[in-house]
Amino acid sequence: MTGVFSLLPEQRHGLLTHPASGDLDRYVAAGGYTPVPEPDRLLDRIAAVGLRGRGGAGFPAAVKLRAVRHAPGPSVVVANGEEGEPGSVKDRWLLRHRPHLVLDGVRLAAAMTGAGRGCVYLSDAVAERTVRQALAEWPGDLHVDVVPTPHTYVAGEETAVVRRIDGGPALPTAKPPRPFESGVGGAPTLVANVETLARIAMLHAHPEAATAVAGTHLVTLSGSGGTAALVEASAGTHLKAIADMGGHGKAEAVLLGGLFGGLHGPDWGDLPLDHDGLAAAGGALGCGALHFLHPGDCPVAVATQAAAYLAAQSARQCGVCVSGTGALARTLTDIARGVSGDGTTDRLRRWSRQLPGRGACGLLDAAARVVGSLLTHFPDRIDGHRNSACPACRALGTSAPDEGRRFKVTVP
Ligand code: SF4
Repeated sequence: MTGVFSLLPEQRHGLLTHPASGDLDRYVAAGGYTPVPEPDRLLDRIAAVGLRGRGGAGFPAAVKLRAVRHAPGPSVVVANGEEGEPGSVKDRWLLRHRPHLVLDGVRLAAAMTGAGRGCVYLSDAVAERTVRQALAEWPGDLHVDVVPTPHTYVAGEETAVVRRIDGGPALPTAKPPRPFESGVGGAPTLVANVETLARIAMLHAHPEAATAVAGTHLVTLSGSGGTAALVEASAGTHLKAIADMGGHGKAEAVLLGGLFGGLHGPDWGDLPLDHDGLAAAGGALGCGALHFLHPGDCPVAVATQAAAYLAAQSARQCGVCVSGTGALARTLTDIARGVSGDGTTDRLRRWSRQLPGRGACGLLDAAARVVGSLLTHFPDRIDGHRNSACPACRALGTSAPDEGRRFKVTVP
């Protein structure tokens, strides 16, 4: 069971509490699909309030929009709804319950970049139905395709998105070129996360609340000691206040970002919901998924499951990713089973520093960060596994990869 909660002081500016559902009339009555007489002013507003992308990297949205706008030739806008992080449901929720907000964002992004074509890229069958229904009634004159993809960890990476839309496999390619230079069909392409596009639509409809809209995040909570929840909260909110919405306030640790932001110890509750604040603490907000570890959970077991999942999800295109994620997962599994030898932690520490940035996408970085954060925040727990497994690690059994089941959340 997943709950939906808003912590916003002004709820009418929230995506979760927006009065429109999938219904066009209600969306228009709430201020949607109004004309865009001056796309430059909207772009300037997005830059002024510092809207950052919500797919994971937190890249400034205006910089991406301008790069596509200034590239030569007709461009393409892609709404990226394929959330590969196993603990996140926000993008699927938006596509299922707020399809017109996302499509309005596509329309506005196309106006700002001069795009003549749009795509909605997704893997969720329920979301595909609602988006197709919304497209059947939407008033925009932009041609928009819906492109389904198989659901994998890397399918939402921007070069994988382009490759799939062009008819290939949903696997990343080497960069450069980046999609803004050469994307779908060779055209300059904006690949934008669906929450980013929904926030652009809100910024357009509520210019008086632009700063608040840009400074708000959707967060997915999970963990065995509480319930799963989708929460909307302002940047800077302490994670403890957000965790309480799912009954996770007494958790002993958290895995941030999906799997991308690493583990954090008992002081996690004081961390702010903020890209820069979490980066300063050695983590990353990523797509805003928080997986909590409660008493009885073991950070070694969680890191082992995360690394094994990432190794299984490697697209096996980069040799360093295949060997690196495999070595990280095997070594963590040895620690979890209490059979690691001398020099194991030194080896893990070296890998966690050397591997980031060496794959064509962020999967290898995520695996290295999970391992590095385990070493930084839980050295005692690793030591405690020197000669035997703890009960939680014993429960992993002999097959550590569990297809990410631990981190999966049902879409509310
Ligand atoms: S880093 Fe790994 S997952 Fe990413 S493209 Fe290379 S092999 Fe595939």
